[in-house]
Amino acid sequence: MNHNGIRFENFSYAYGEVQALRSINIEIAGNELFTVMGPTGSGKTTMLRCLNRLNDLVGSGRCSGSVFVGGRSIYDPSVDVTSLRRRVGMVFAMPTVLPASIYENVAYGLRRAGERAAVVISTVVEKSLIAAALWDEVKDRLGERADRLSGGQQQRLALARILALEPDVILLDEPTSGLDPISTLRIEDLLRDLAEKYTIVLATHNPHQAARVGSRVGFLFQGEIVEIAPAAQIFTSPGDQRTEAFVSGRLG
Ligand code: ADP
Ligand code: MG
Repeated sequence: MNHNGIRFENFSYAYGEVQALRSINIEIAGNELFTVMGPTGSGKTTMLRCLNRLNDLVGSGRCSGSVFVGGRSIYDPSVDVTSLRRRVGMVFAMPTVLPASIYENVAYGLRRAGERAAVVISTVVEKSLIAAALWDEVKDRLGERADRLSGGQQQRLALARILALEPDVILLDEPTSGLDPISTLRIEDLLRDLAEKYTIVLATHNPHQAARVGSRVGFLFQGEIVEIAPAAQIFTSPGDQRTEAFVSGRLG
C-alpha cells in the first residue's frame, strides 16, 4: 500500500443500538480521489469521522474491525490521535471559519503546533492559499475578517487551513451542499488537482456530483457498502438494484 492509502477491514460502527456502518471493506490507494455516495443517513459522515477518530468523542459509539491509514492501524492504542487528526484533515458541510482574519485562519494550526517564526508562517499561509485556489482573490486583503468571504471562498479557506498542516489525507463531508453551482464546480476542479498530492475522500448524497467528479465511487446504503466501481460504470451499469435505484433518483 502507498504511504497514504486507506483500508477499512470489516469495520463496523454503532451509536448505541443504531448500527451506522456494517462490516465495510474499502481500499483506497494513495493519491486517489474517492467518492463515498449515499442517501442521507447511510453512514457517510460516520465513515469519515472514524477515519480521523473524531467519533472517539461520541459516548455511545462502539467500533470493531480495523482502519488503516498509510499501513498503520489507526485504532491501535499506540496511535497519537492529535497527530492522526493532523495527517487526516477534514472539511465539513458548513464552512467553519474562525472569527479572525483570513491570514490568521490559515496560520492558526501552525501556531497551535508550536511554530513561532513569522517568515515560516507567512510562507506557509501563501503556499496554502495558492494550493486552495484562493490566493488571487484574497492576497490584497489578508487582514480582513474571514467571515466576510462568500461560502465558496470559506470552504476553500477551510481547505487552506488543512493544507497548511501538510496532511496525507483530506476528508470532505458534503463540502458543497451550501454552495451555488459555480462555486461547487470550482471545488470539484480543485479536488482533482489536489489528488495529485493527497489522498482525498469526498462524501456526497448527490449522484450528479459523484458523476461529475468521475472518481471511483463507493455506494453506501444503510451502513453497507453495496458496491465500489468507477463512476462511469456505476452510472451506466450498476451492479446492484439499490445502486440503480439511487443513481436514477428513485431512492433517497
Ligand atoms: P450520513 O452522513 O450518510 O447522512 P450519518 O453517518 O450521519 O449518515 O448517520 C448514519 C446513522 O447514524 C443514521 O441513522 C444517524 O441517525 C445515526 N447517527 C449519526 N450520528 C449519531 C449520533 N451522534 N448519535 C446517534 N445516532 C447517530
Ligand atoms: Mg452526513
